[in-house]
Amino acid sequence: MNYMEIKKYDIANGPGVRTSLFVSGCTHHCKECFNPESWDFKAGKEFTEKEIDEIIESMRPDYIKGLTLLGGEPFEPANQEALLPLVKKVKELYPNKSIWAFSGYLFDKQIMDVMAKKYDFTKDFIKYIDVLVDGEFHIEEKDLSVVYRGSRNQRIIDVQKSLEKCELVLHPKDAVRLGGNKWEVNE
Ligand code: SF4
Repeated sequence: MNYMEIKKYDIANGPGVRTSLFVSGCTHHCKECFNPESWDFKAGKEFTEKEIDEIIESMRPDYIKGLTLLGGEPFEPANQEALLPLVKKVKELYPNKSIWAFSGYLFDKQIMDVMAKKYDFTKDFIKYIDVLVDGEFHIEEKDLSVVYRGSRNQRIIDVQKSLEKCELVLHPKDAVRLGGNKWEVNE
């Protein structure tokens, strides 16, 4: 797997101060994607043990609240496999720090119903993700007021609760539709 960037002290992609990894490769090709240079799986640099160590080290201070995986598409099958050693190590060393991921794939219809049935590594990978922001970016539904998302169709999912209950459980930071286009953020 290649990656585009490791962003330290990121405050935009999940709660608190985090380390964010932008992976290379995305097959969704959303119209007006914020990061089209990341679509190419060969873009950026190779992700190696050195980068895993760099991320682990960056997360050591108490004020770093977790790791965020985005891209590109962390849930492209090849990327999931490559990210597995990283998420395992993060949870082993920092069990109280959260792992967030952003994906254009839908958690229920594509990740659980298709990928998790096809690939053992998906079943493994998803166990380490605390929160998933899912869904492709829809320019027609772009909304700067929905926290952590670019468009209103995207959802913030509590992955661990969803796995426990075998049903989709939204994270409290998701928004609820109040009618029309009005959204409210639950804290
Ligand atoms: S899923 Fe994300 S990275 Fe991929 S095309 Fe859509 S907005 Fe861009």
